[in-house]
Amino acid sequence: MKREFAVIGLGRFGGSICEELSMEGMKVLAIDKNEHKINEYKNIASHAVIADSTDEHALKELGIKNIDHVIVAIGDNIQASILTTVILADLGIKKITVKAQSDYHEKILNKIGAHHVVHPERDMGKRIAHSLISSNILDYLELSEDHSMVEVMAGRRMRGKTLVDLNIRAKFGCNVVAIKRGKQMNVSPSADYIIQENDVLIVIGADNDISRFEKQLVIDE
Ligand code: ATP
Repeated sequence: MKREFAVIGLGRFGGSICEELSMEGMKVLAIDKNEHKINEYKNIASHAVIADSTDEHALKELGIKNIDHVIVAIGDNIQASILTTVILADLGIKKITVKAQSDYHEKILNKIGAHHVVHPERDMGKRIAHSLISSNILDYLELSEDHSMVEVMAGRRMRGKTLVDLNIRAKFGCNVVAIKRGKQMNVSPSADYIIQENDVLIVIGADNDISRFEKQLVIDE
């Protein structure tokens, strides 16, 4: 059975979620209080409806209770985002994902029943900053408040060495969870795996440890 989603707020963020989910064949109910936005998405989403999500009655009428996953993508109006999240949590929606504007907003959303809070501008800023530090840092992903994952290109200091030689786990407390070589993905590489030029290492660890690993083995090539 297809999973059903609702996207509330069709700005750039909510709009692109709505488009991608629809392209992946998911059933999407698009909600916005702005008629122009609804006209824009009526041929993209399964249903596109003008409604104010701070109106509990309107949400109930739309059958929001039957939706598996609701994404609240209201940005600037923090009050509307919070009120909408409270209503959805109160209605017992199984999965609520909300876009936060600030750390303060994020804290409140976590307290009032959001299951997952995303902070796309901040996260994208961090990812881009890491890739600016070194051309060998290909991607950076925050996993929790103090743990991250980095994707790094094997630099001069790693090439020709095995994972035992580099001793990344003991030295930095980070784990190399996979190594990509071309299109091949080696999950859980063995200790005697010899790193070659253009290998891409996927490393997980605490932020401080990742930072030491980056400084000593990746940056300043
Ligand atoms: P983005 O950065 O993703 O473009 P944004 O942070 O600029 O978004 P807004 O433009 O404030 O966010 O809001 C996104 C959409 O949410 C807008 O189209 C707006 O009409 C809609 N919206 C705001 N409040 C409500 C509400 N109470 N009910 C329904 N839709 C709402």
